[in-house]
Amino acid sequence: MQEYATIEYTIPSPGVARIALDRADKRNAQDTRMLYELDMAFRQAAEDNAIKVVILAANGPHFSAGHDLSEDDRIGNMQEFDSVGLWCGYDDAGSEGPMAFEKEVYIGFSERWRNFAKPTIAEVQGKCIAGGLMLVWPCDLIVAADNAEFCDNTVNMGICGAEFFNHPWELGVRKAKEFLFTADFFSAQEAHRLGMVNHVVPTAELSDFTLTLAERIAAKPMFVLKLMKEAVNAAQDSQGRVNAMKTSFALHQLSHSHNVELYGLRADPSFLRASGFANKNPRFAKAAEGDDTEPGKG
Ligand code: ZN
Repeated sequence: MQEYATIEYTIPSPGVARIALDRADKRNAQDTRMLYELDMAFRQAAEDNAIKVVILAANGPHFSAGHDLSEDDRIGNMQEFDSVGLWCGYDDAGSEGPMAFEKEVYIGFSERWRNFAKPTIAEVQGKCIAGGLMLVWPCDLIVAADNAEFCDNTVNMGICGAEFFNHPWELGVRKAKEFLFTADFFSAQEAHRLGMVNHVVPTAELSDFTLTLAERIAAKPMFVLKLMKEAVNAAQDSQGRVNAMKTSFALHQLSHSHNVELYGLRADPSFLRASGFANKNPRFAKAAEGDDTEPGKG
């Protein structure tokens, strides 16, 4: 069995794998290791013929605070893992290295998991912010606890939306704009009303409800489930999702590069000050005070 440091992989019921984010002390902020371990766990579930459905869950009160902005050397930390994409150039200067990193580890992984062949169910409690959406949205079904809240706060960082820009498909065009412009939290009930969430259940019943749903699906024929998923994804992609995603990713990189030109950092330092990251990481502290000698990462 594969050993993981930042996630848990269990089989709670025959045919069902459960992958749980396991950095509750960091509100399940996603560092490079966690993202590669998630990809390894999806591969483990894909290669195991006994597994038919995957639940993506999180330990602790909150699903995920998003990407771990306090990680010191995320590109250096990639060296421990085999990259899954072939873009490469992660160490390259200017915008190239950071874009390559995000293409591999952020949008690349979210797209891979969205196209993971077997059915997936996200099980979400507490806060799910920005990069957190990039784990939840690639799943086929979403079950939310009644205390779940969803938010993309990238506007406050001077960044034009999380890298996996599925917002218009998840929320509809008009509510997606409100979600992005305001950085407001949408409640589980609102997300359900908009069709982003399949079910809202009492927090205490979240895991049992999700597992029962997974077991019901796992009783169906595997190949037909895969074909159905492929057909629905193809219907969505034929509406232009893939090309829209490429455009939004390019715009996202432009917003990072704009911040680098203005501040020497890939995110607006006023956000770093307000969010407390400036206190946690000397690199951000220097930049937040206006001593922007080192290009930042965001
Ligand atoms: Zn980014």
